[in-house]
Amino acid sequence: MTDGPGARGGPTDRAAARPTTPAMGGTREVPVPDAIARDYLLLALRLDQHIPGFVDGYFGPADLKASVDMEQLRSGARLRDDATALLARLDAEVPDPARRRWLAVQARALQAHAASLAGDALAYADHVAACFDWRPERLPDSLFDAAAAELDARIPGAGSLDERLRAWDAALTVPAERLPLIVDWLVGRFRASATTTFGVPPGEDLRVSLVTDKPWSGYNWYDGGMRSRVELNVDLPIRAPDLLRTVSHETFPGHHLEHAWKEAGLVMAQRRLEHSVLLINTPECLVSEGLANLGYRFVIPPAAEAGLLAELFDRAGLALAADPAHAREVAETLAAIRPARHLLRAIGGNAALLRHEDGLDRAAVVDYLVAVGRDTPERAAQRMDFVEHALWRTYVFVYYEGEELLRRWLEAVPAGEQAARFNRLLREAPTPSGIAAELMTGESTDDAPTGGERSTP
Ligand SMILES: [Zn+2]
Repeated sequence: MTDGPGARGGPTDRAAARPTTPAMGGTREVPVPDAIARDYLLLALRLDQHIPGFVDGYFGPADLKASVDMEQLRSGARLRDDATALLARLDAEVPDPARRRWLAVQARALQAHAASLAGDALAYADHVAACFDWRPERLPDSLFDAAAAELDARIPGAGSLDERLRAWDAALTVPAERLPLIVDWLVGRFRASATTTFGVPPGEDLRVSLVTDKPWSGYNWYDGGMRSRVELNVDLPIRAPDLLRTVSHETFPGHHLEHAWKEAGLVMAQRRLEHSVLLINTPECLVSEGLANLGYRFVIPPAAEAGLLAELFDRAGLALAADPAHAREVAETLAAIRPARHLLRAIGGNAALLRHEDGLDRAAVVDYLVAVGRDTPERAAQRMDFVEHALWRTYVFVYYEGEELLRRWLEAVPAGEQAARFNRLLREAPTPSGIAAELMTGESTDDAPTGGERSTP
């Protein structure tokens, strides 16, 4: 261990005890990783050579990336052995239990990915469980039927629910040319709210662009140095309520704020350099996607939701905004049906199990999505692109499962304590199994003291 937590040295030789190294891109420096963090980063970067897109962001030491780019490709079998060896070292080399637990679940996911590369893949559901430190359950169709019945009762108009939903959604489409200004307005508003409730690290910044031809609706690319690039997909029309959800998810208090705080606290202050890489299909994603969904309530409190939507209709120039009383009524209905529509989206997990575990063909799963999920054929096809994508075929679970796990954990404390509890998700590195255990016992296993400096709110 070259420079692990608890590195010696008083205030006078602090600089000598905390060496830094150039980071990827730009002019930043990051702390030199200890041996465990270094080998974890190397393993992740090597897996990315076999699984394009696996590394979602890397802002750690530049020399590690350079050496992986230069070396000969390591086989999947060798990488699986590397993951196994890393796991075996954790007890001896990582004294901090929270750090050790996080590294263990992440390394198990890397081990599962490497095993797949080596031709020794787990069965789909077992692979998903290894990826996320969490085993998703198939949701009963009755849940989706109940959500559809609620929508049926609340969405006015003539025709089938599908026809009414289409007409309803069409009236709520934000014109693409209005999106940039509206997104700026929302980001400013959510940043101000998150600053008050959670604090934001100095120097954080983000920019938003519109893109097409992607299998997702929005994406946060975290570049390090407290900066994110947020992309919104305009392939399909963006509806006003989805825009609120997507912007808060990608920015405040979602992905951008989470990554910025973790860079400031875990990477820079505590020197847990393993957090300088962001990895798709690992347990950190279940927490990250869950908190990004769950954060909505803090920047858009229930009492403010309808008012914010009505203002958005106006800024978007929607026809319905011409009648403020009607606009308010529509906004209130939208706020009321949000949980039901959210639940219908969770059907993507069932679709993935039908496709990959049960072996149904694509057309049969599209039929299921249309019949049970009440998707339009167009939405069902877009959902299947995600479910069948090489990377997202396992990722499809993290949104609903992550949010549900974290929601139960958050709501286990009184309302007045929930913002503080949520703030832990932004600044610490809990694991899905650790959160589940805390939910059962009421005691955190993830927040034990760490050797390095802790960031302060
Ligand atoms: Zn996300």
